[in-house]
Amino acid sequence: MKTLGYYNGDTAEICDMRVPMNDRACWFGDGVYEAALAANGVIFALEDHINRLFRSASMLEIDVPLGKAELKELLVSLLKKVESSVNFVYWQLTRGTADRSHAFPENPKTNLWVTIKPFTMPDLRQKIKLITVEDTRFLHCNIKTLNLLPNVMASEKAKKAGAKEAVFHRAERVTECSHSNIHILKNSVLRTAPADNFILAGITRAHILQCCPVLGIKAEEKAFTITDMMTADEVFISGTTSFCTAADHINGIPVGGRDPGLLKKIQDFLLDKFNKETI
Ligand code: PLP
Repeated sequence: MKTLGYYNGDTAEICDMRVPMNDRACWFGDGVYEAALAANGVIFALEDHINRLFRSASMLEIDVPLGKAELKELLVSLLKKVESSVNFVYWQLTRGTADRSHAFPENPKTNLWVTIKPFTMPDLRQKIKLITVEDTRFLHCNIKTLNLLPNVMASEKAKKAGAKEAVFHRAERVTECSHSNIHILKNSVLRTAPADNFILAGITRAHILQCCPVLGIKAEEKAFTITDMMTADEVFISGTTSFCTAADHINGIPVGGRDPGLLKKIQDFLLDKFNKETI
């Protein structure tokens, strides 16, 4: 298959899949999701993604219909059905299928959706443009829910401005981006927002923090401001599909570019980790 769509046991090409209108994803975005990359039949950092999915589901009281090992096995078996060797693997759990009514249905039966499609690895030498957008999201940004409308609006605003990502801020404090985390380097120190309820605890962010002691970089999980970001030596975003991508402009103003050596060490670490763990 070129792509794969899965819904509660049924599979087909994604464009041929049909899901029930009463799936609570349609009415309320009532679900949680994960997205990972896979190469050579191996889903990168799968354990981390599965653990985060279970955490998100538990915070929303969504029952996970299968165990961690079973879910991993299912995803890997579905991956085998797709021709391409490098793939984007996405899965979500939704709070069952029921007539539209806000409160949880009685004994909801969780639905499992999976999509798998070919992925082209990014060129990390390419720098990107960012814009800033006020963070108007709710106060549970640590839950990876399907409720992404402010993220969608911010992402569209970035696209219209010719930028790749939108950087959310609450007053002066930078939180994260519409679908990635953001970090700065200043005087050889890496600074990233703490993993509180204002950001999603990105798995790539965790890998960056893990690499710091290995590379001899001091890391601080401490919120930074727009001014800190605009005057940083490097500004970069992180995410499953973007790995670690540096910005050269924010709101049209040049930023970063003053510590390319350290930036490249982090980028190389992440790519090496991916390549080694997906052989
Ligand atoms: N922040 C948000 C809002 C996201 O949607 C994502 C990824 O989808 C991330 C951060 C980065 O997380 P990860 O590194 O696990 O892909």
